[in-house]
Amino acid sequence: MISEAEKKLLVRGTQINYYFVCKTKLWLFSHHIQMEQESDAVELGKLIHDDTYKREEKGLILDDLISADFMRKGKVLEVHEVKKSNKMEEAHLFQLLYYLYYLKNEKGIEKIRGFIDYPKLRKRKEIRLTHDIEKRLEKILQDIDSIIKGDVPQPQRKKICRNCAYLEFCWS
Ligand code: SF4
Repeated sequence: MISEAEKKLLVRGTQINYYFVCKTKLWLFSHHIQMEQESDAVELGKLIHDDTYKREEKGLILDDLISADFMRKGKVLEVHEVKKSNKMEEAHLFQLLYYLYYLKNEKGIEKIRGFIDYPKLRKRKEIRLTHDIEKRLEKILQDIDSIIKGDVPQPQRKKICRNCAYLEFCWS
C-alpha cells in the first residue's frame, strides 16, 4: 500500500508534469478532480510499462518515501520514468528532475542518476540535476502553488486535449 508521504511526493511530481502540459489540468488535478483512470492514454502507458518492463524491479520503494516508475540500487541509485512517447518531453524531464531533487535534498542521496525510458522508441535519456535546474524547480514549485490558489485557468485548445481525461469537462 502507498504511504501518505509517498502519495504526496507522487502528486507533486504529477503537478510538475501538468504544469508544462496544461495549467487547467494542473488546477483540476490539484483540486482532486481526478479522471486520469478513464484516459486511454494513461491505460496505454500502463500497458507499455507492464509489457516491456515486467522483468524490471518496478515500484521499489525507497525508505517508504518515493516510488518512481522503477529504481535499481547499486553503487549509484538509478531513478527511471517510463514514458510512451517524447511528445511532452519537458513535462517528463521536470517530473523526473523533481524526484532527483527530492532524493538529493530531502534524503541526502548524492550518487543518483535519472533516466527517461521510451520503450516504444527504444530510447533512453540520461537526466542530470544541476544547480541552475534546482533553482528553476524551486521557482516552478512556487508557480504551481500560486496557480492552485487561484481560479481555474481558462482551458486553451491544444492537440493533447483529444487524449486528455478532462476533455468533456473543458469542452462539452
Ligand atoms: S482538455 Fe485540454 S484544456 Fe482541458 S485540461 Fe485537458 S489538456 Fe487542458
